[in-house]
Amino acid sequence: MTPNPDLSGRIALVTGASRGIGYSVAKQLAAAGAHVVAVARTIGGLEELDDEIKSAGGQATLVPLDLTDMPGIDRLGGAINDRWGKLDILVANAGVLGVISPIGHVEAKVFDKVMAVNVTGTWRLIRSVDPLLRNSEAGRAVIVSSNAAHSARAFWGPYAASKAAVETLMRSWADETKSLALRVNAFDPGRTRTAMRAQAVPGEDPKTLPQPSEIAAKLMPLVSRSLTETGLIYQAQRDRFVAYRQPE
Ligand code: NDP
Repeated sequence: MTPNPDLSGRIALVTGASRGIGYSVAKQLAAAGAHVVAVARTIGGLEELDDEIKSAGGQATLVPLDLTDMPGIDRLGGAINDRWGKLDILVANAGVLGVISPIGHVEAKVFDKVMAVNVTGTWRLIRSVDPLLRNSEAGRAVIVSSNAAHSARAFWGPYAASKAAVETLMRSWADETKSLALRVNAFDPGRTRTAMRAQAVPGEDPKTLPQPSEIAAKLMPLVSRSLTETGLIYQAQRDRFVAYRQPE
């Protein structure tokens, strides 16, 4: 894989860009030359990102949007189409943990929120931008997943189920598009020093965890024009692609 792709002239949409992994991914995409469309709810975080990108000579467009707002996601695809007529890179990174709890104790509204953001919001975004990625001469989509999808860990039920769902969605989408120039993969960051990790494992010393910038650097080759893989999961902390099921 190419470690530092040249992304000049590329349009890149990143969700969850207000902090954590998405913030670092957005910065690194802009530093590589992409125009970044940065999505999240927290305007302060988006503005901080915008300041950093622009002071480094990059380009960004901020989109304050809640990914449970389905018509809003549809409008975003329409706005990108009106402005550029295509999308080159999608990094569907936004996610919520919900709660770490025995399955029988999870409140319905918490379960529904995890599914709404992590699964339905991701699907709706894919639906909104799929035609735009097909218009790119080398569309690249990265769905941010988690090892929780495969580890069957106690108390992580709703989050783990949501990540398994989006990985399966990713594999179907990759199979549908494998004859096109579009490459679709998932990215498993592994344990990373962010607010979500602190919520999940509050007793952990954050200094033992990789910084979001280190993990974002591992995602960059997945948006390179030279990438050939599709339908796979890239495990950042093991530096490898895995296929949990080989295509027949
Ligand atoms: P953070 O909690 O630091 O960031 C989550 C991002 O998602 C924020 O920018 C947040 O923005 C956005 N987001 C959450 N809810 C919504 C919503 N309803 N609408 C729009 N945006 C939303 O998490 P991380 O950076 O750690 O996680 C990023 C991704 O990496 C997630 O998909 C997570 O599951 C995955 N991951 C993380 C790991 C880790 O150890 N950190 C390990 C494995 C996977 P805002 O609140 O401003 O809307």
